[in-house]
Amino acid sequence: MPQINENYLKLEKNYLFINIAKKINAYIEENPEKKSNIIRMGIGDVTLPIAPCVVEAVKKGAEEMGVKETFKGYEDSGTGYDFLKEAVAGYYKSFGADVKPEEIRISDGAKSDCGNIVDIFGDDNVVLITDPAYPVYVDSNLMNGRKVIYADSSEANGFCAEPDYNVHADLIYLCSPNNPTGAAFNTAQLKAWIDYAIANKAIIIYDAAYEAFITQDDIPRSIFQVEGARQCAIEICSLSKTAGFTGMRCGYTVIPNELEVEASDGTKVSIAQLWGRRQGSKFNGVSYPVQCGAAAVFSEEGREQIKVNLEYYKENARIIASTMDKLGISYTGGINSPYIWLKCPNGMGSWEFFDLLLKEANVVGTPGEGFGKNGKGYFRLTSFGDRDATIEAMARIEKLLSK
Ligand SMILES: *Cc1c(COP(=O)(O)O)cnc(C)c1O
Repeated sequence: MPQINENYLKLEKNYLFINIAKKINAYIEENPEKKSNIIRMGIGDVTLPIAPCVVEAVKKGAEEMGVKETFKGYEDSGTGYDFLKEAVAGYYKSFGADVKPEEIRISDGAKSDCGNIVDIFGDDNVVLITDPAYPVYVDSNLMNGRKVIYADSSEANGFCAEPDYNVHADLIYLCSPNNPTGAAFNTAQLKAWIDYAIANKAIIIYDAAYEAFITQDDIPRSIFQVEGARQCAIEICSLSKTAGFTGMRCGYTVIPNELEVEASDGTKVSIAQLWGRRQGSKFNGVSYPVQCGAAAVFSEEGREQIKVNLEYYKENARIIASTMDKLGISYTGGINSPYIWLKCPNGMGSWEFFDLLLKEANVVGTPGEGFGKNGKGYFRLTSFGDRDATIEAMARIEKLLSK
């Protein structure tokens, strides 16, 4: 009989979205006439279609696969075609981050790389994760039995966690703009983490999945825009939220050539090589048509077209934020992020506020405590929905809360 990895038994059950679904279903059962009235602003998935020039590029790639002369089987490197790596490097260059094409690895999305990257690090590392956080970071480390410690993101620091030099960490997960809080690190805040990482000989795993939502000039789009990052950081990014690729699956991970750690015998080991070794054994690359589509995202035409969708979501975010302003509810996000992270009014708990919105406004959001202890009393609304539904939801919330 095989032994199981008992660490899995210690994982917290993901009650959050199960509980949300249960509560919605119970409400609909009691009030069947309200079913079509419910507006869902809880799920972090996009809703607008893929840009036309991206669809064309995917089709063209698929057609090439159907012709003997242009058919492609396994990709030689499995790390992405040069045409896409060069397109991504060109994108980094456009905002002043020096990333070489060979430092970029094309992936099937950010979630898998965020979880799998820990395979190359030993189990005795101390992993520091901000609280609240995207659950993948915590779960993938607990699965290997690693010690996880938390850095508080709370009202006191504007939901931008700060390093504490009294605490040592070996691996640090940062996500900016953040899911769930919508808060984004400015250059000085990110530099503070880089200094801490260098002082601790730690590595930062930087999730930049929401970089395309940044509108303010002093918020870096990439950690590699900040001095010192090439010595201590890995960046993981995705086209999911940027270009609506949640169902297409494509992302990229950047590991600087010079990023090294010392093995126990004192030899220097390249992180890029180690990750390449891991992926070489367990990953065979991203489909050719999808990579064609991804490259189109970075073309001039693609950038123009995805901007239309991003503007649509950003306008939804502004509509939500202005309602919160009117109601005097404090929040983060909405400016450089599709998420609005609000403080539940009148000292309500996350679930209490969830129930109130569901029953009295037929609006569904996400209780903050599902993302960590600092999410207690907070609530996440997303701007990924339909414009008219967003406007209607805000009108209902305004009416309900200004009573
Ligand atoms: C949505 C999201 C991602 C993207 O994951 P994919 O696997 O690329 O779809 C990564 N990180 C965070 C924090 C996210 O919210």
